Amino acid sequence: MEMSTEQETSSAGHNAAGHNTAGSVSCLLDLLRSDPTTSWSNRMTGPQIRLHSLSHESGNRFCADCGSPDPKWVSINLGVFVCIKCSGVHRSLGVHISKILSAKLDEWTEEQVNALIEMGGNEALNRKYEASIPENFTKPKPDSSIEERSDFIRRKYELRQFCESDGQLYCPYPARIQSIKFLKKNDQNYLNFLTVMSPQAGMIEFVGLIKVVIVKGTNLAIRDVMTSDPYVILSLGQQSVKTRVIKSSLNPVWNEQLMLSIPDQIPPLKLLVYDKDTFSTDDFMGQAEIDIQPLVSAAKAYENSTINESMQLGKWVASKDNTLVKDSIISLVDGKVKQDITLRLQNVERGILEMELECVPLIQ
Ligand SMILES: [Zn+2]
Repeated sequence: MEMSTEQETSSAGHNAAGHNTAGSVSCLLDLLRSDPTTSWSNRMTGPQIRLHSLSHESGNRFCADCGSPDPKWVSINLGVFVCIKCSGVHRSLGVHISKILSAKLDEWTEEQVNALIEMGGNEALNRKYEASIPENFTKPKPDSSIEERSDFIRRKYELRQFCESDGQLYCPYPARIQSIKFLKKNDQNYLNFLTVMSPQAGMIEFVGLIKVVIVKGTNLAIRDVMTSDPYVILSLGQQSVKTRVIKSSLNPVWNEQLMLSIPDQIPPLKLLVYDKDTFSTDDFMGQAEIDIQPLVSAAKAYENSTINESMQLGKWVASKDNTLVKDSIISLVDGKVKQDITLRLQNVERGILEMELECVPLIQ
């Protein structure tokens, strides 16, 4: 009995000591909080202090895209400081193109700040991303419209039209995409192809391939004096491929097959039509976005099917709320799951694009 009393007393003592310690910490915090000399910047952590001084370097005091003063947002993968309006456009491109953080509101790690410093800031990056910007091209200004801003930012970072190299499209794995045509499905190389390293997102798993035949365009917009030299860019997540340019045609027939691998998190398939110009920036001729999820689901469901006859698996009905010119049918033809799509191009005065999709699922 005596022993146990002693133990209780002693543990009560520890508790008391614990309370005392906690009490003194909270007193200290109260003191710090009430100290009028403790400003926001004094309370910043190590990386935030370095970020704060980086943002005050001359090149970073104006938005990299429109020149607005005092930009407070940062694209951590592109390395540029941008204003709130441009940051919205960056976000709309998706994190695989630009990942935006707030310089003030987000928590930054030492590594992120180091990487940002290494990329060189707005001046260095604009020398890279705007190297071959045509002389007659005007960059957006702080009061530019959202359309002007979007157009420029997309050309600059997503299409890399002004990049030093050649103004060529950025495609992380073009050689592999072409060589896949010669591989069989059970080939080990095929499987290797389907798991590749992505510089920003780490390992990406692919669930299959999508073959896109760009069939033709009808009544496309005029971008040169009388006609246009159209080509189509297809992108899915980080990958982009494009068709050849058809000279002087508003009704081009490509019949060209392009192939992309389908990431695990299935992004929409984006199509952009441009007019090829030799001496200036290529002109925009419309765009479209397609949800390929239904096609992928149908392909997965029917991949082991032994049905020989053709059958309809699904239908995307044309209506005034979507861009379809006629109903788009997902069908099983010779054991292949395909979808025909004819749609009106968006953000342009006119133009119809016709294509055929086929999904080849990968057995997991
Ligand atoms: Zn801006």
